[in-house]
Amino acid sequence: MSLHELGVRQAAEGLAEKKFSSVELTQAVIDRVREKDSEIGAYLTFDEEGALASAKAADEARAARNDLPLLGVPVAIKDLINVKGQPCTCASKMLKGYTSPYDATVIKNLKAAGAVCAGRVNMDEFAMGSSTENSGLGVTRNPYDLSRVPGGSSGGSAAAVGGNLAIAAFGTDTGGSIRQPASFCNIVGLKPSYGRVSRFGVTAFASSLDQVGPMTKSVDDAAMLLQVLAGHDEMDGTTPKDPVPDYMKAMEGASMKGVKIGLPKEYYDVSGLDPEVKRITDEAIRSCEAAGAELVEVSLPHTEYAMAVYYIIAPAEASANLARFDGVRYGHRSERSDDVFNLYARSRAEGFGPEVKRRIIMGTYVLSSGYYDAYYGRASKVRTLIRRDFEEVFKKVDTLLTPVAPTPAFKIGEVQDPLTMYLNDLFTIPGSLAGNCSMSIPAGFAQSGDVKLPVGVQFICDAYREDSLLRIGKAFEGLSGK
Ligand code: GLN
Repeated sequence: MSLHELGVRQAAEGLAEKKFSSVELTQAVIDRVREKDSEIGAYLTFDEEGALASAKAADEARAARNDLPLLGVPVAIKDLINVKGQPCTCASKMLKGYTSPYDATVIKNLKAAGAVCAGRVNMDEFAMGSSTENSGLGVTRNPYDLSRVPGGSSGGSAAAVGGNLAIAAFGTDTGGSIRQPASFCNIVGLKPSYGRVSRFGVTAFASSLDQVGPMTKSVDDAAMLLQVLAGHDEMDGTTPKDPVPDYMKAMEGASMKGVKIGLPKEYYDVSGLDPEVKRITDEAIRSCEAAGAELVEVSLPHTEYAMAVYYIIAPAEASANLARFDGVRYGHRSERSDDVFNLYARSRAEGFGPEVKRRIIMGTYVLSSGYYDAYYGRASKVRTLIRRDFEEVFKKVDTLLTPVAPTPAFKIGEVQDPLTMYLNDLFTIPGSLAGNCSMSIPAGFAQSGDVKLPVGVQFICDAYREDSLLRIGKAFEGLSGK
């Protein structure tokens, strides 16, 4: 195996055993990116010198200590997470040229664990989208078929890991943005429970939904990275003080035996579910059963409202969060302005792309006086019903098994209509609204003409049960014939 193909666990072990140095590993990733990324377009920027300098420092630190879990492991960062001294554009023209003055808490944690922040990866502008086609700064292609999208919004992260252009990457998930691209690019993508991971220093899209999570080559890798990310942060009041479980330990002896898997009926009789995705999901269910899991049909009765609720709540929060990009405090400043109102209006008109504008318009509308109760107020109430559906179901089962997205990766340019694009998140949005944790794990390949496209399945667990999510995920990963 070449060094750039390694996952986090293999890389960390190889480094600890001094089989190779961090400089060698980081250089291998850089060489691979130089060779392949002109084709894939996963990265927006890559400070090679900075990454190699951090790698060298890690190698030097190794002489003194060998106890940091990620010492010398290079990882790629979605371009909306602040790393001091690096660009943070959110793939928007609005923030082109912006340099972060501070580290996000997740980055502080990663650096404290010894990781090397190597490269900034592409995304849909401000994380709004499902294909990375909304990036204002470049096209990213699916490493399994270059004519197709990598998914989104964390499409650069998924393409980098799936194409072996990174050891691992970090994404964010508001309604599906870690899980759907993970499914499209044949990798593991974990969305932690709301509050599990600090959002401080992560450019906000919808603050009541956003979470940072690992995008990796294995479930072990996801556990190792989540361990470093998770926990209380003074700078984010939604992160509880409770101790974080030992995730690697939680996976010891992982097995499907006796695991109660709920199959929510609302997720299975959906028109528009691709037959190959259905086949792969059915096979996954059967292999879990064969390995000793107990299948239970369950119902999440308010699922049908989730999409509508999300497309009120997420744009509402986005419209407030994006108000700061006004050409004065942040971002692109129009040169054509003669008064302050025009400065705001023109800077925003020139800086934001069409999807971001669409969300801001929807968001300000649903929050406007006279409409607030009818839209935002009501959506918040239905969100509570959706959360209760999950709470009820998790009294009966350990996990839910569902498709991740209705289809495998689609062609670049194929989905033109925003509403069709929104349907990608049909199966991921309800869990986001409920705040529980979920993971996309590779499950098979869909045959599409003469290409084979990766398809993942989603496991969903109750809030703050990442320990059981990882344990079940690890057991699933080990099944043959899935
Ligand atoms: N695709 C969804 C959207 O466009 C989710 C995005 C995300 O999770 N960041 O809003």
